[in-house]
Amino acid sequence: MSAQPMLERHARMQVALALIVRRARLSIVHWETRVARDALRALYREVHGEPAPSGQLPTAGGAAITTRHCQLCASVFVMLYRHLQLASSGASGQDRRSRSIVAMIQAHDLAQRVLGAEHSLDITLCWMLARDLRMGRARLRSCPQCQIQYLVTEQGRFDQGCPLCARYRSLGLSSLKVGQAGGSLLRG
Ligand SMILES: [Zn+2]
Repeated sequence: MSAQPMLERHARMQVALALIVRRARLSIVHWETRVARDALRALYREVHGEPAPSGQLPTAGGAAITTRHCQLCASVFVMLYRHLQLASSGASGQDRRSRSIVAMIQAHDLAQRVLGAEHSLDITLCWMLARDLRMGRARLRSCPQCQIQYLVTEQGRFDQGCPLCARYRSLGLSSLKVGQAGGSLLRG
């Protein structure tokens, strides 16, 4: 018997555990790993001491982004995910798929560290955003005003404008001017 299937099974269980520890929905864990749903339910209960939540996923990640602040945090996640995914662009087939899910988990964790635990993004939302990005249903757009890249999605609840500029406006600041000497000045 070849050792390959055992290694493969071990790798899939590692991904399943990583997703469950971060409280991903089991439908996603099953989709990514093909581990049996009963085994995943048992694993979830063992890790968290409670049954896994059930219910429908939103069809698009954009529908789950309900505030400008969430859009800004999601933009950070997507930028990190895209950067990490570029590292796996040379892979193909199953290898590429498994690297993509690892990149998603790493980007989720990095975003949490960058944004702080109180602004962390739900791993299920991160998974949906990564999927929508690959399918062209979400993308990054450059803001000509403040120069950041931000996320725009199908079914987005906003005017698809820049969340950082919206934040400036809500603070009563109309624009960000960068001085020629390299200093920056927020104009009211
Ligand atoms: Zn902007």
